[in-house]
Amino acid sequence: AIEVADLHKSFGHVEVLKGIDLTVDTGQVVCVIGPSGSGKSTLLRCVNRLEEPTSGKILVEGIDILDPEVDLDRVRARIGMVFQQFNLFPHLTVLRNLTIAQQRVLGRDKDEAAEVARHNLDRVGVGEKIDAYPAHLSGGQQQRVAIARSLSMNPDMMLFDEPTSALDPELVGDVLDVMRDLAHSGMTMMVVTHEMGFAREVGDDLIFMDDGAVVESGNPRDVLGEPQHERTRAFLSKVL
Ligand code: ATP
Ligand code: MG
Repeated sequence: AIEVADLHKSFGHVEVLKGIDLTVDTGQVVCVIGPSGSGKSTLLRCVNRLEEPTSGKILVEGIDILDPEVDLDRVRARIGMVFQQFNLFPHLTVLRNLTIAQQRVLGRDKDEAAEVARHNLDRVGVGEKIDAYPAHLSGGQQQRVAIARSLSMNPDMMLFDEPTSALDPELVGDVLDVMRDLAHSGMTMMVVTHEMGFAREVGDDLIFMDDGAVVESGNPRDVLGEPQHERTRAFLSKVL
């Protein structure tokens, strides 16, 4: 589970997270929506400490990840992260993209890492691209490779930051299918997305953020169907 309590984050004098509380229970999918600049990426980045929160509490599987004593590498190894830009290493083949961290961080040997890589590439439907370089793949294939790379680290949970926003429309569905399968397999997921259909269908909870705060949250059907706050209604009227 991910438990966030009274999380604040400032950049200089600008407070971009103004006391966020949320829980993602084990095996649950929580989607986060909100206007540009509302703090969605900053929130996700705090959860695996790519950003240093200003104050508040974050527990990941009960471990206080803001504790200065915490082993950050171990924490990060348990939290997979997938970004809008796929962030594959362009000079490495798909296989090497998947094996390098397994070998360096998890200490797996080459054969074992390759076996895990092959399994996860098959799982996301790009097994035949194992020897290709990222530039020779479509955006949707690259994003699925990025997901397979995260899965190869055996994470307990996955964070997605607008994973389909950089894709051509016809490639979005393949990536959402992979994410849906992952959700059904029981993965704990936090997903920043503009895909309201995905949020409605796959999300256990939907959080609407605006201006660094959670304005409204709950069952996705309720939030999307009967938003309680004017700001939620205004946002949804633009995106739905
Ligand atoms: P988008 O939908 O455009 O991705 P977002 O909801 O993810 O937006 P964030 O990227 O979290 O928003 O940014 C929240 C605010 O924090 C913005 O005003 C942004 O300019 C500011 N911000 C983010 N990162 C930094 C940084 N490293 N330094 C200074 N300000 C930052
Ligand atoms: Mg963002």
